[in-house]
Amino acid sequence: MPHILDPKLIDISVLRRFTSKIDICSDDECWLWKGGRDLQGYGVFYFMNRSVRSSRMAYLIKYGKIPLYNEIGQRIFVLHKCDNSSCVNPNHLYLGTNTDNMNDAYKRGQKRMTKEVIGKGIFSSAKFYAMDIRRIRKLKIIRSICPKRYKHSCEYVAKIFKTTSMTIWKIWNSNEYPCRDGYFV
Ligand SMILES: [Zn+2]
Repeated sequence: MPHILDPKLIDISVLRRFTSKIDICSDDECWLWKGGRDLQGYGVFYFMNRSVRSSRMAYLIKYGKIPLYNEIGQRIFVLHKCDNSSCVNPNHLYLGTNTDNMNDAYKRGQKRMTKEVIGKGIFSSAKFYAMDIRRIRKLKIIRSICPKRYKHSCEYVAKIFKTTSMTIWKIWNSNEYPCRDGYFV
């Protein structure tokens, strides 16, 4: 059951706490969330004793309300135009269903592919598929969420994925790594 967020409860202290976790840039740049993130990379903010996606919170602050369902009963989500799940720039957010999200992501992916495949051989020589890169990144997130339990190093992850620790380091520290699927991930 999705929860309803009451914008009336966003007072100045909530606003201060929220904005202290954002890198506010120009209107068309991505505003990255500096606070905690979930496993999919979405920012997480605690509000009304619940964890709320920070993009959802940003949308609510800017536009005042978020409907739960559309006219045919499909759940409404706050989605990213920019494909950057940790971005909370309200100009990059829009409301849509899960299907809208998948269609839009597909279109953006196609556009990126045609733009970037041209003239670049780096994708064909790339070692990993996007899926592997996401798995490798997830290991870093898991480690940062629970450092007491998970202490795996670049070297350790490199062994699992049969690569060098430098490659793992690069994947962990970049948002744009070429993958065999033909785009940057
Ligand atoms: Zn953005």
